Amino acid sequence: MNVFINGSTKKLEEPGLSLTDRSYLFGDGVYEVVHIYNGKMFMYDEHMERLDRSLKAVHYSLDIEQVKQQVKTFFQQERPLEASLYLQVSRHAGVRSHWTKDPMDYNIAMWFKPIDMEAIRLKQKNGFPVVTDRDVRWKFRFIKSVSLLANCLSLRKALLQNCNEAILIEDTGEVTEGTSSNVFIVKDNQLITTHEGEHILSGITRKHVIDLAKKDGIEVVERFFSKSELMDADEVFVTNTISEIVPVIKIDDAPIHRGTPGSMTQHLQQMFKDSIS
Ligand code: PMP
Repeated sequence: MNVFINGSTKKLEEPGLSLTDRSYLFGDGVYEVVHIYNGKMFMYDEHMERLDRSLKAVHYSLDIEQVKQQVKTFFQQERPLEASLYLQVSRHAGVRSHWTKDPMDYNIAMWFKPIDMEAIRLKQKNGFPVVTDRDVRWKFRFIKSVSLLANCLSLRKALLQNCNEAILIEDTGEVTEGTSSNVFIVKDNQLITTHEGEHILSGITRKHVIDLAKKDGIEVVERFFSKSELMDADEVFVTNTISEIVPVIKIDDAPIHRGTPGSMTQHLQQMFKDSIS
């Protein structure tokens, strides 16, 4: 697989970034993932706007246009059809120091990974079981940072219990999001999802699903909901760029919607699919 690092194409196995890259040492990097359907990057502008917000939040003085130019060059070179773009921007300083007055530089790295849409469609059809876990992450979750250790450990917990995602819950009992997804519940035909803010990543898919639902006359409420509301919901689903909308059929061994995908979830999935073509 080819990777593109600071304007040069390499093989994934080839040495790329220096050990003093701060994403390696301190998790000092931000990233984006874009879904490519039929050779076209879906919601590309929205992803680049979010990357720009992440870059600014971690004080990178890097013009987003420079990043976009590199994506364009690599995209034209690789011409992916069904794939995901992984794009990471990190900082490096040449020394390991928590902070340094030396001018820092940036590394821009990316690759395209093929997507198995058939496997994803199956997951969307059947849904999957999830666990709940404590949200022990830092507070700036609106930044799409590569510091994902807490997310990885919660997903590990899920996988050890043969589940596919962990839904994260604050010590106050409020549901934030999944380890790599946003969470929606349906109660009495109302669609409820955690409001935007520092406490969650503003998912591009989340926003698209809200827009589709509103256009269809579905009542959408953006607010915190509790773990008990989650467990008591008529339907639950999670969203992200790669998997779109996936029904949650079980949470911590308790079935949701009798262990099957619900009708509002299926309706939104269909609208999502229609919006791609
Ligand atoms: N929350 C977290 C923590 C995530 O990692 C992701 C996936 N990037 C999402 C939500 C969903 O965001 P998006 O729809 O933009 O993929």
